[in-house]
Amino acid sequence: MASKPRPAVHEPDAAAMQHLITHRRELHAAPELSFKEIETAHYIAERLDALGVDKMTKGVGGTGVVADIRGERPGRAVLVRADMDGLPLTETADVPFRSRRAGVMHACGHDVHLAIALELARTLSQRRHELPGMVRFAFQPAEEQAGGAKPMIDAGVLEGIDRVIGLHVWSQLPTGQVTVPPRVVMASADMFTLIIRGRGGHGAQPHLTVDAVVIAAEVVTALQTLVSREASPMAPVVITLGSVHGGSAANIVAGEVVLQGTLRTFDAALRRHLLERIAQVAEGIAGTMRGSSDFRHDSGTPPTINDPAIASLVSEAAIGVVGKDAVVPMEPLMVGEDFAYFLEARPGCFFLLGGAPEGAPVVHHTPEFRIDERCLPIGLQVMTAAVLRLLQPD
Ligand SMILES: [Zn+2]
Ligand SMILES: [Zn+2]
Repeated sequence: MASKPRPAVHEPDAAAMQHLITHRRELHAAPELSFKEIETAHYIAERLDALGVDKMTKGVGGTGVVADIRGERPGRAVLVRADMDGLPLTETADVPFRSRRAGVMHACGHDVHLAIALELARTLSQRRHELPGMVRFAFQPAEEQAGGAKPMIDAGVLEGIDRVIGLHVWSQLPTGQVTVPPRVVMASADMFTLIIRGRGGHGAQPHLTVDAVVIAAEVVTALQTLVSREASPMAPVVITLGSVHGGSAANIVAGEVVLQGTLRTFDAALRRHLLERIAQVAEGIAGTMRGSSDFRHDSGTPPTINDPAIASLVSEAAIGVVGKDAVVPMEPLMVGEDFAYFLEARPGCFFLLGGAPEGAPVVHHTPEFRIDERCLPIGLQVMTAAVLRLLQPD
């Protein structure tokens, strides 16, 4: 059966523009930290309620809010994710909507994501009669601590969902441009601890001890051979041991050394392999040298990997909005993003929305962070076009 033509994407009207700016500024002025997004969730839930969404659930995976909008035509089920949290920074920008909360700031642009998702929900809820399938909005807590995506998924937010989509505004990409990576978007980010145990003693009687410092030194060096010998030269990997702590005095053999490190890679299988091997190599070396080693995986997100077919549909949608020349490639970013969990579970796409402000360049996670609000209507239009495309039953 031939599917009916797709609903058209309209330019945001004055009302939509007003909503985008109002949502963005109100949320920007009242940022909250990870898993503490109480007022943010309340703001979102109130607006969704006013739209008459088909189903809304609060408190999902912490402070998350989930809402469904059902179209009146057959189609797929698409999940749109927007993250809600700010960061522990004090904003320096002199704007009327500056953060009212000392020490908390929307320094990653999640307020932009929220404004776009809220306005998308309004747009789609008014067009149910022509909408194919169902759109589920997942307003997610705690992206910055990589803690919010998984609890939402564990709570069932992906049940019945065919495809997922999310965006990140990017201050180093010019406003008006969009990046839709065909595959790799961002790296995995794992933090781990190795506790190397020996037996302490007198610095002048090493033969009566098991020196944890000597073991740790071997482990630090050996872990770099995982990068050079067990990862393809074509696959970027970083293993950094950023912290080494042990011992108490120059003439005492340390009985314990604690190493802390991070692993970054773009490849899910390689990530699993290396996490296992970091533990094994440390254990093997420590055991050979009469000590022991405990591996602790402190936190981690998988790499953010797009489904190439879905990314291609989103790219087409973006081209329809900003034109071919403004959909630009970008090297994968070594930062982590917990939308990766959604992409592990369902085919989908995460894209970057250019929002570089005029003047001096700014980077995310700094007190000077700013965003060009002209990216808001562009983000809304690209998101609308992409969601309508992904809903299509083909
Ligand atoms: Zn961030
Ligand atoms: Zn972010």
